[in-house]
Amino acid sequence: MSLTEKDRQYLWHPYTQHKTSQTPIAITKAEGALLWDENNKEYIDAIASWWVNPFGHSNKFIADAIYKQLTTLEHVLFGGFTHEPAVKVAERLMEILPKNQQKIFFSDNGSTAVEVAIKVALQYFFNKNEKRTTIIAFENAFHGDTFAAMAASGISFYTQAFQGMFIDVVRIPVPIKGQEQVSFDALENAIKKHNCAGFIFEPLVQGAAGMVMYEPEALEKLIRICAANKVLTIADEVMTGFGKTGKTFAMDYVLEEPDMICLSKALTGGTIPMAITTFTQDIFDAFYDDDINKALFHGHTFTANPTGCAAALASIDLLQTKEMQQNIARINTSHLNFQKKIGTHPKVITARTLGVIFAVEIKSDSEESYYGSMRTKLYNFFINKGVVLRPVGNIVYILPPYIMTDEQLHKVYTTIEEAIEMV
Ligand SMILES: *Cc1c(COP(=O)(O)O)cnc(C)c1O
Repeated sequence: MSLTEKDRQYLWHPYTQHKTSQTPIAITKAEGALLWDENNKEYIDAIASWWVNPFGHSNKFIADAIYKQLTTLEHVLFGGFTHEPAVKVAERLMEILPKNQQKIFFSDNGSTAVEVAIKVALQYFFNKNEKRTTIIAFENAFHGDTFAAMAASGISFYTQAFQGMFIDVVRIPVPIKGQEQVSFDALENAIKKHNCAGFIFEPLVQGAAGMVMYEPEALEKLIRICAANKVLTIADEVMTGFGKTGKTFAMDYVLEEPDMICLSKALTGGTIPMAITTFTQDIFDAFYDDDINKALFHGHTFTANPTGCAAALASIDLLQTKEMQQNIARINTSHLNFQKKIGTHPKVITARTLGVIFAVEIKSDSEESYYGSMRTKLYNFFINKGVVLRPVGNIVYILPPYIMTDEQLHKVYTTIEEAIEMV
């Protein structure tokens, strides 16, 4: 039996309707921006394997750091114990995070990072004997698939089976150009009408919504409204973190600081699942008490796994090299040129770029659903051409590993141009 046949017998894949979907492609090897399947067909990974892999696949520098850690201290429980890799990750993050971030809490993935942030927002007010139980989130947000993260997420078909079982969430429009005031007013209204504990948002780019972008000034205003009303702000940088927007964090474009930040995806360079939620001293202090009940009773078995920490440290090293910063700038320039070229195409509605993120919306006769027919046609076209891209409805986006060569990037662009002609 081939790998894919055995897969079909036993495995259940994420976001997959197994009755109608095609068999998955079995990847046997990866290096840099390239993947190879079991028939030795080559693919360019133009989405960094769901946005996790900025420094390329099978990266030797990160692998060496992981191996060294695995053969020194692979894991120890983090309840009652600590270790150097965790402390070092904290120290490194303190150097690069917004200055008000003072405490870090480890977990395992983007959803748990969000779960922790939402629980902390709710318990912060519980600990202060204040009744605040509503979370504010953007329309079409994506914050993960565990329960609180799912409640905050606004992509409805992901969550429709669970409506009515969620924590209280009010949704406000994203302040895209021309819609800023509507968004500000909706936030003011939500705060007036509900007992709001926190506001969670994807800063500047909503990834899963199709790389929807909005301006830093609009986010500054929203954060100021929250601060004036003591609503805690949560920047979900799970997708945007570690260079994707052209700066280390999307919040580096924003003059106001959030109360909490969620990190995962590129944190370990796409090697070991790990996540971090960071907090202000004020938040930590609301849990710091002689009363044990005020503690944060949240943890995961693999919290602060030393191997994951070693991978994170190596990744931050790589991100901060001159070479990697030049790569990010190079890809950004390249994207802007492609945007100029493709933006005026008669079949294109709009194209946009921030950092290494590029997205183009293609005209369509009918309302394109997330996994609709245009999406399937585009996806298959790209796969046939050996380019991994996962369009969202009629939106095609690129989020390449920073080490992608100009030649590879050029092939991705040409393939997208061909796809636009094809649909
Ligand atoms: C991917 C993502 C998550 C969820 O992360 P998982 O590791 O898939 O649980 C949360 N927030 C944002 C913004 C994301 O892009």
